[in-house]
Amino acid sequence: MVKVHTVGGFSEVGKNMVVIELEEDAFIFDEGFFLPAIVSMEERDRVMTEKRLKSIKAVPDDSAIAKFKHKIRAQFISHAHLDHVGAIPFLSDKYDAPIYGTPFTMEVLNSLLADNDIVLKNSQHAIKPNTTFYVQGKNQKYKVDFINITHSTAQSLMIAIQTPKGAIIYANDFKLDDTPVLGLKPNYKRLREISKEGVLVFVVDSLYSGSERKTPSEKVARVLLEEVLLTIQNRNAGMIVTTFSSHIARLKSIVEFGKKLNREVVFLGRSLDKYSTAAKNIGIAPFLNDVNISKYRRQVERTLKRVEKKRKDYLIVCTGHQGEPGSILERLSRHQLPFRLNKDDNIVFSSSVIPTQVNKDQFAKMEGKLKKSKPRIFRDAHVSGHGGREDLRDIMQIVNPQHVIPSHGGFDKTKPMVELTEELGYKLHKTCHLMQDGGILEL
Ligand SMILES: [Zn+2]
Repeated sequence: MVKVHTVGGFSEVGKNMVVIELEEDAFIFDEGFFLPAIVSMEERDRVMTEKRLKSIKAVPDDSAIAKFKHKIRAQFISHAHLDHVGAIPFLSDKYDAPIYGTPFTMEVLNSLLADNDIVLKNSQHAIKPNTTFYVQGKNQKYKVDFINITHSTAQSLMIAIQTPKGAIIYANDFKLDDTPVLGLKPNYKRLREISKEGVLVFVVDSLYSGSERKTPSEKVARVLLEEVLLTIQNRNAGMIVTTFSSHIARLKSIVEFGKKLNREVVFLGRSLDKYSTAAKNIGIAPFLNDVNISKYRRQVERTLKRVEKKRKDYLIVCTGHQGEPGSILERLSRHQLPFRLNKDDNIVFSSSVIPTQVNKDQFAKMEGKLKKSKPRIFRDAHVSGHGGREDLRDIMQIVNPQHVIPSHGGFDKTKPMVELTEELGYKLHKTCHLMQDGGILEL
């Protein structure tokens, strides 16, 4: 028997969690946050407990797997984004099973645990991408592959586990980037080897299956940034870039362009500190060594006072690309920090607004306030971390699974993937399965 439990991330974008149940053993893949719910929490009552998080539906509803929780042998984390790792501090200790992720992901997890004053009982294992290892079941060992894949944060994985009926590959989230700015290329070779031995189920990130394209490489985002940062005319003005804090490759490009401009790069904001420190700790980000990072309010204020006087000598990298209340850019827009924006300043968004109502609203609010100071605004110096329809066609042909489960969203997001699999010879309900949260597929 092989059962795939689609616990979270199949009726919404976020709170990803999948459980594979076999006769005597079971395995968890990801335990993530539903970020719109977290964002909506008031700053002052961000007391995170499992009960509170469940009540606002910010974490996966894992009650359906409670009856076989004694079978759980391992918990795997695919990458360091909060919609994949965020709920680990609050849910994982219910299971008596070690946690596995890449060194970067485990560093980020450690920092999340420290933020919440949580010490986990379960052991934690940092395993490098492109490693094959074994986890112990009740009566047998299972071969697991951490397969390197490209995405918008460092050390992301496709994870394969061998079952008696064939491999199961969990592929949330990825793009196919053969020229990554940081880290390794996708490991097509290992995927082909596993495919040859037979893949039973492929759980595949279909978030952008509706966009008929190949998602451009991170090197394209680098060029977009270069265009803005190195070729605009008002080089003596203030320069502020905001991007996803977990996007270490993007931060690398920004820091390198800052150097070319002879500007000192300063990072402002807690989440930038969190991910940069994780990357530095595991030695993948030497380019951050001479970046000044300000995390606490006082530090941020001190840095900004210094920068304001000589703004042409600095490049500010800060939080707030989604207009998040309390982020640095949002506070700048409300004149809550000792730095006055003026009409010569440049604000570069190396990001796109995540298309949820909460994000759209808070971004519009911040943008309106920023524009009162009339700075130059550059949007969309960015490419996505999720593959488009043609990446999905490529990966389907490499992996060649018996069954496909489109993931990373509700039907609105995953339906185009069904059409693609039909083109490739799969049949809905027979070999391609559209699941919802709490669903079970038995094979
Ligand atoms: Zn992700």
